[in-house]
Amino acid sequence: MDEVVSRNPATGAEVGRFPAAGAAAVTAAVARARPAGRWWAGLGFRERRQRLLRWRALVTRRMTELAEVLHAETGKPVAEGTIETAAAIGDIDWAARHARRVLAPRRVRRVLPVAEASAHLEYRPYGVVGVIGPWNYPVFTPIGSIAYALAAGNAVVHKPSEHTPSVGQWLADTFAEVVPEQLVFQVVHGAGETGEALCRSGVDKLSFTGSTATAKRVMATCAETLTPVVLEAGGKDALIVDADADLDAAAEACVWGAFTNAGQTCVGIERAYVAAEVYDGFLSRVVARASALTVGSDGTSDLGPIITPAQLEVVRRHIQDALDRGASAVLGGAGAVQPPYVHPTVLVDVPPDALAAREETFGPTLVVHKVESMAEALRLANDTGYGLGGAVFGERQAIAVARALRSGMATVNDVLSFAGMSSLPWGGLGDSGLGRLRGEDGLREFAHAKSIVVRRAPSVLRTRTFERTERDIARVVAAYRLWFGRRP
Ligand code: NDP
Repeated sequence: MDEVVSRNPATGAEVGRFPAAGAAAVTAAVARARPAGRWWAGLGFRERRQRLLRWRALVTRRMTELAEVLHAETGKPVAEGTIETAAAIGDIDWAARHARRVLAPRRVRRVLPVAEASAHLEYRPYGVVGVIGPWNYPVFTPIGSIAYALAAGNAVVHKPSEHTPSVGQWLADTFAEVVPEQLVFQVVHGAGETGEALCRSGVDKLSFTGSTATAKRVMATCAETLTPVVLEAGGKDALIVDADADLDAAAEACVWGAFTNAGQTCVGIERAYVAAEVYDGFLSRVVARASALTVGSDGTSDLGPIITPAQLEVVRRHIQDALDRGASAVLGGAGAVQPPYVHPTVLVDVPPDALAAREETFGPTLVVHKVESMAEALRLANDTGYGLGGAVFGERQAIAVARALRSGMATVNDVLSFAGMSSLPWGGLGDSGLGRLRGEDGLREFAHAKSIVVRRAPSVLRTRTFERTERDIARVVAAYRLWFGRRP
């Protein structure tokens, strides 16, 4: 591949054209990033914060322009591009403001056996971080790595999806406007081979967001050089509705959670488990709201196209498989698949072994299932290899149910709001990946702990010398019996 050409998925119109980076070009970008990273780290927390806040302000001033680029390249409604950009702006702001508090050198309590020394902890940047991103949220997902890696003092080399190169380039170009001195944030374009080359390029850490299958390949490639990884992969998130839930609020949130970005959302609601007492009321509300959604490419419709033809086939297969296994479509169904669009589809009586109940569909489909208890809802919701997010609507037991969801994130009486909560870690369990972006954990993900011990006085216990005597060892035994030997 010599060039990456992106096209609007609805119209086929060319949006962007960039030279593709082969392995040598990727390695060269990482080599250029090294001195840039040292310079950036040397600026210190305060100066980096200033630069990042300037970038935040620039992105904010031009956020409608970025939303238009997002619309052109993914087909998503301009309003959704704006919301996505807003969440990313929140991330740049939070990372910039909190990096020093979380990562800067601090004194830590010393411990009795080494009481003669002071203990110091700091989080040092890795150097150069590689960031590989997907096409569904090409601003929000990579910024969850890029902003935090930059705030921690690293240089970044980002490979956007081949479907959304203009968005990635826009991010790097605007950053270069506020940091013109060095190539602190670069973009390399290309398909999977370019991503693989980035894994092999000698980056000091690799952050990947994309499908579970590719996450496994990325981890295997990075294992060759023991390059540390953070992997944000797919999901099959569930919404649980208890009998004491506000049904209008639950239905409104469920419809947005399931159909926003035409369902191409890693934390999208793909399944709803609803208490029997309120099942009919919830389902009718969901169908009424979902059937009013508009589908199209003009930028103002509620749902845009499915971004890639391959993804459209996955969605078609999941709907057909559910229908073949006895499910019914109370909205949409097989006829809802009208390339490049899929109209909102709500499926009921879906058997638990159907693809739509188990695998990530990543399209505008929702499976609704009646349950007799919250215990049954949890058993079904947790019966998947994924563990990304989830949501609970209800009052009395809602927080306990949210805790019991096997997932890295959950919302109560809302959906997806962890996406805007930059102060909280983002990530999943099992097939949804490992490591965390955002929040304090997300800052620490892009820095390594450095422990420094400074001796201030003669040793309390003479253990770290061959000059020790039997008397010294007897003192060790006596001291440890005194400090640690008593029953609690
Ligand atoms: P893919 O896994 O297909 O691609 C992700 C990125 O990896 C792309 O840039 C892709 O390049 C690149 N890539 C492909 N092959 C390799 C390889 N062998 N080595 C290194 N990089 C490679 O994911 P999608 O783009 O299809 O994104 C959708 C997926 O992302 C869904 O599963 C979704 O759930 C998940 N996702 C997870 C999120 C999370 O936070 N957990 C957030 C958003 C999405 P190219 O596209 O150019 O081929």
